[in-house]
Amino acid sequence: MSVWQDKYIVVNSKSRPSFKLLGVRKLVIHYTANNGGTAMNHFNYFNNYRSLPRAASAHIFVDRTQALCIVPLNEVAYHANDKPSLIPALRATASYYKGGNANLTSIGVEMCMERNGTFHPDTISRTEDVFVELCRRYRLDPLTDIVRHYDITRKNCPAPWVSNPQAFTNFKNRVYAKLKGTVPPSSLPSTTSSSSDPILRKGSRSDAVKSLQSYLNKFGYNLNVDGAFGPLTQNAVKDFQRKNDLVVDGIVGEKTWSKLKSASPAQQSSKFPLPSVILKYGYHGSEVRQLQEALNEAGFSCGRADGVFGKKTLTALKSFQRSASLVVDGIYGNKTRQALHSKVNT
Ligand SMILES: [Zn+2]
Repeated sequence: MSVWQDKYIVVNSKSRPSFKLLGVRKLVIHYTANNGGTAMNHFNYFNNYRSLPRAASAHIFVDRTQALCIVPLNEVAYHANDKPSLIPALRATASYYKGGNANLTSIGVEMCMERNGTFHPDTISRTEDVFVELCRRYRLDPLTDIVRHYDITRKNCPAPWVSNPQAFTNFKNRVYAKLKGTVPPSSLPSTTSSSSDPILRKGSRSDAVKSLQSYLNKFGYNLNVDGAFGPLTQNAVKDFQRKNDLVVDGIVGEKTWSKLKSASPAQQSSKFPLPSVILKYGYHGSEVRQLQEALNEAGFSCGRADGVFGKKTLTALKSFQRSASLVVDGIYGNKTRQALHSKVNT
């Protein structure tokens, strides 16, 4: 038996517009904020679209007894459209759907609440199983590709995991463990923990800011290492965050610190920068354009680098994979990125 049951709501403009999803780059976790409402209650609510106050929906609803997929996974659901996406990789538009929100590039999963406003342990466990299946199906990494609605638009969702981020981290670690049969390396105690790095923002003034500026300069930003976090430092931080798929808020927290310390400056200044996301047939965007430019440079012609992963790009990518003795699956991931990088940038 499948983890979830397909039970689709009717096509309608409020909750199932029948827009084609451009691809699945991330999986988004939500909560219903509706105490005691079951998956079936939510199917009925969104199927009865005439009484919906505004456009809304999600793909899968999970409660303690079942998971229902109410919008097909290759269609858009209205789950993260309250603002344009703060995660650049999820921002997308199509001729039929504008706004740059995350709905064209992600799948939304809603956890149902108990009457007392908590998640039942069976709901959590079933949601883990749903994400295991989704990560497997779309070749996504539970640790980096499961995000909260909060991470995309700062909406307080799922509220219990916004107030307690560790509970969300633990959830991702359990999905990882179920998927791979082993605990993630990052969940083990580390001697190089970054938790001692202070949070820095505009106006900060300290030796830690000097250290931040030195790190940024390795990526070519040319800042004065004066320990004062002014507008130039803030712009550099935002630019770095944008290029590294972080939330672009200009504030240096744990994730930005860790990226500054782990990202390779050489790769940043590459002549043909290569995105570190998974790309496949049907995707659109600047990352696809970078891939096309690199493939063209390597002699595997995609035609004009137009940012659309179509048949020509697929053929070029497969030829490259064949030439590099990689698995010829037409999907751009880590191994293809490394091979292409060493071909065009070294
Ligand atoms: Zn939400």
